[in-house]
Amino acid sequence: MSCSPFDLRDYFLQELPDQERRQVEAHVRDCQGCREELERLGMTQAALFSLRDEEIPQRVAFVSDAIFEPSPWRRAWSGLWNSGPRLGFVSAAMLSAALVVFAFNRPVASPAPAAVAAVQARIPDAEIQARIDAAVARAVAAGERQQNEKTQALMAELTDARQKLSQAAEEYNLGVKRQALEVALAYRQAAPAEGEGQ
Ligand SMILES: [Zn+2]
Repeated sequence: MSCSPFDLRDYFLQELPDQERRQVEAHVRDCQGCREELERLGMTQAALFSLRDEEIPQRVAFVSDAIFEPSPWRRAWSGLWNSGPRLGFVSAAMLSAALVVFAFNRPVASPAPAAVAAVQARIPDAEIQARIDAAVARAVAAGERQQNEKTQALMAELTDARQKLSQAAEEYNLGVKRQALEVALAYRQAAPAEGEGQ
């Protein structure tokens, strides 16, 4: 989008009256966005002019062209090829050719669906369902086995840790008991004088 007071394309195509033209020129001097827009218009025009000079391909060659070259059929074909509706004709011709090829090839080209249908016809739905169930059960069992192994390893670690903890606790308790015992012993050793004094 340009912020020019008048359409830059009109300016570019020299369709603006002098006064508006001068306003646009004054705006473009100070507006980088509009200057770039004008440059783009210039490049587009240059590209269009260069395209106009190039030769547009008149026809597409077929491998079989040479066969028909001298015949009236070939001349008629050339006339058609260079005429307006040629593309529509060629598209329709290619489509019908494709349909013909498809119709002839279909039974040979697609034996797979028939085989699949035959297999499906031989195996009843219940059997298929049973196989799926068995496969699912196997997968679940494998998953559970793996999970069980993990859980067992974890439980072993926990048991080991618990043993170590209870050992530590026992040692601590023993220590406390020993201390208590020592305190009691010390107390008793101090006490007999009082007891004997009674
Ligand atoms: Zn501007």
